[in-house]
Amino acid sequence: MTSTSFWQATAGDWQPAATAARMLDRLFDCIIVGGGIAGISAAYALAELQPRWCVAVVDRRQVGGGATGRNAGFLIAGTADHYAVSVAKYGRTTSRDIFALTVASHRRIRDFLARHPTVDCDYLPCGSLTLAGTAREAEMLAQSVALLQEDGFDLTWIPHDPLGRGFYAAIHNPQDAGIHPIKLVRALATASGATVVEHWPVTGLEADRGTLLVHGTTGILRAERVLLALNGEAPTFASFFANKVFPKRGQIFVTAPYGRRLLDKIVYANEGYEYFRQLPDGRFLFGGGRRAFAETEVGTDETPTEAVQAHLEAFRNRHFPELTAVPVAYRWAGTMGFTDDGLPLLGQLPGYEQVWFTIACHGHGMGFSLEVGRQAAQMLIDGTPPPLFDAQRLDTPGDGG
Ligand SMILES: Cc1cc2nc3c(=O)[nH]c(=O)nc-3n(C[C@H](O)[C@H](O)[C@H](O)COP(=O)(O)OP(=O)(O)OC[C@H]3O[C@@H](n4cnc5c(N)ncnc54)[C@H](O)[C@@H]3O)c2cc1C
Repeated sequence: MTSTSFWQATAGDWQPAATAARMLDRLFDCIIVGGGIAGISAAYALAELQPRWCVAVVDRRQVGGGATGRNAGFLIAGTADHYAVSVAKYGRTTSRDIFALTVASHRRIRDFLARHPTVDCDYLPCGSLTLAGTAREAEMLAQSVALLQEDGFDLTWIPHDPLGRGFYAAIHNPQDAGIHPIKLVRALATASGATVVEHWPVTGLEADRGTLLVHGTTGILRAERVLLALNGEAPTFASFFANKVFPKRGQIFVTAPYGRRLLDKIVYANEGYEYFRQLPDGRFLFGGGRRAFAETEVGTDETPTEAVQAHLEAFRNRHFPELTAVPVAYRWAGTMGFTDDGLPLLGQLPGYEQVWFTIACHGHGMGFSLEVGRQAAQMLIDGTPPPLFDAQRLDTPGDGG
């Protein structure tokens, strides 16, 4: 099975500005390693917060070649957990702060698109449905929506299945949206003005006379500071991440175009373990299946598996029997970085004065994007990680916030 995503196949041509050979004698204010949504969002924020800084983004593949170009393109508020679960896990204030952060991040994407009207990234302000797959989950959703409304968020409880497809109840969030993730990340990269170097794998870092040398397979770049945005590949790069960041896989398929529009919202179901949307050209995207394959959906291999793909097709056929005969056109897998407590990890790499990281946005990196990017940029400027995501929390067992 191939693993080219629908987004990679349809993103079109894009020429980032630089080649590494022309940069070897420059001193960058910041080099960001990793051109996914986390690294590019930080570059975009740096352009606003430190417009005089000379910033480069390097990636061993293309911009958006990792999870960012392999996701479902959902801009969905909150974390993977239902809000009631989040409140039990992190407390009310932290849960509200995280939800508000994702709402703010989405607002910044809307503002970005409004300021750049020529940018086309298939942004669809369609709203989302979160569907309960069981009566127990429906109760959890009812509690979640009540808590969200009390906390000032505008979501609606639907005590039945609004799609009539075998679910129990739903939450409607009118603010959520769909997007083409690679087109978005490229547009942000261009707007950031950063020097972007693709196909430039970083092999190591070295402190040298008060600056940092960034060693790649084809040369060495020099910077005042470095931001690692490596997601699930972080443990391969530095052993510090080995017991903190865990690479988990997710899989998706996209069908050939279907002639009728059956769905106008992005949809999460079964506690987020299954999700689907109908794309603007009529295709259906189905993803997830990790709950049934928790033991095997780990690591960084981006090859889809027959077992998970069959599970996803069975899910589609059960809830959308009219799509059973529609051929599948794309199948792929992607790697997410997870932490034990479900939150992103920002901080400073021990042993280096000026090496920072922003890693592990779990299954919601598009939702977290611009706000976590802003916090990462602020961390580079202030030298202080944001309290909510500070990696030092993992050194304090039992302190859930
Ligand atoms: C199947 C799937 C579905 C998902 N659906 C959604 C969704 O709908 N909505 C949502 O919000 N989130 C979703 N996610 C999660 C989201 O995609 C991630 O949280 C987000 O993309 C992470 O961004 P990132 O920049 O941290 O990582 P990545 O996009 O993985 O970027 C990391 C980059 O680092 C580069 N790199 C690694 N090592 C090196 C090195 N040594 N040198 C140079 N470069 C290096 C990689 O090439 C890669 O481009 C999904 C994820 C998957 C896998």
